[in-house]
Amino acid sequence: MQIIDGKKIAAEIKEEIASEVKKMIDADERPPHLAAILVGNDPASETYVTSKGKACKQVGFDSSTYRFESDITEEELLETVSFLNNDPDIDGFIVQLPLPDHIDEDKVIQAIKPEKDVDGFHPVNVGRMTIGLPAYISATPNGIMELLKRTGIETEGKNCVVLGRSNIVGRPMSILMSRTTQPGNATVTVCHSRTRNLPQITAQADILIVAIGKPEFVTADMVKEGAVVIDVGIHRVESSETKSGFRLIGDVKYDEVAPKTSYITPVPGGVGPMTIVSLLMNTFKAHKQEIYS
Ligand code: NAP
Repeated sequence: MQIIDGKKIAAEIKEEIASEVKKMIDADERPPHLAAILVGNDPASETYVTSKGKACKQVGFDSSTYRFESDITEEELLETVSFLNNDPDIDGFIVQLPLPDHIDEDKVIQAIKPEKDVDGFHPVNVGRMTIGLPAYISATPNGIMELLKRTGIETEGKNCVVLGRSNIVGRPMSILMSRTTQPGNATVTVCHSRTRNLPQITAQADILIVAIGKPEFVTADMVKEGAVVIDVGIHRVESSETKSGFRLIGDVKYDEVAPKTSYITPVPGGVGPMTIVSLLMNTFKAHKQEIYS
């Protein structure tokens, strides 16, 4: 069994980006600039936006955050989106989700110019990704594809089971794995809450990608000997063994599943570190106008 070290791979990608950015700055070019819109005081959103700012700094990107109280109107938020769409100094931006209930998330996402939609949530980017055109691919699936690529995992012709069909993880993941690319060219099955005989299906998987949002849901009996297991789940649970009083676990029961696998991502340190790096990769592409040239 080999552990896929997402932390190490993410650090390598950051170094590669930082070295390219340094060359740009040495040539008197403006560095890439990522902006974020943050509404309200949700602690998870705050943490994510702060981490994004730190990651930008590490690789030499500019970053900025547009903060609003949770009573901002939809119209005011759409004005900010429009402002960022038209600011030539900003290469890409994200609107941190979730938004307060009185704001229509779909409307806000659809107001973002696809060229600046580095989160890859705009239907134009989702559509382009689906038919294999250059597109911004949302951060977590993009990060998983990068992990598979850099680990040299063969996916062609393999049975890939994706557990979960959310728009941000499961669904794009299943599309990417079925595309005619490497990684990709897999035979993909998507499972969800209405799936029957789930353990029998997951036990057929050569590659099992788990994004179900249920702590330690996947047990050893659900996994084929020698499978590649990618665990997207993150759950904070109480623990008497750590100083902080909590620890992070995934959607997979790691201790019993890991010995059966050929490769597995740990939690923490697997998929998680790749997510912000993916956003940096997308922002860099936006700066270089690689997707919409
Ligand atoms: P989500 O939107 O809650 O989707 C969960 C999916 O699992 C849904 O498609 C749901 O089916 C399915 N499901 C739920 N219970 C099931 C069951 N008992 N049997 C079969 N399928 C079931 O979750 P998400 O946003 O995709 O996130 C999944 C996990 O990944 C969470 O733990 C989240 O925290 C984590 N995550 C991590 C990162 C990262 O950077 N590492 C990024 C994003 C998410 P239905 O569609 O039928 O409801």
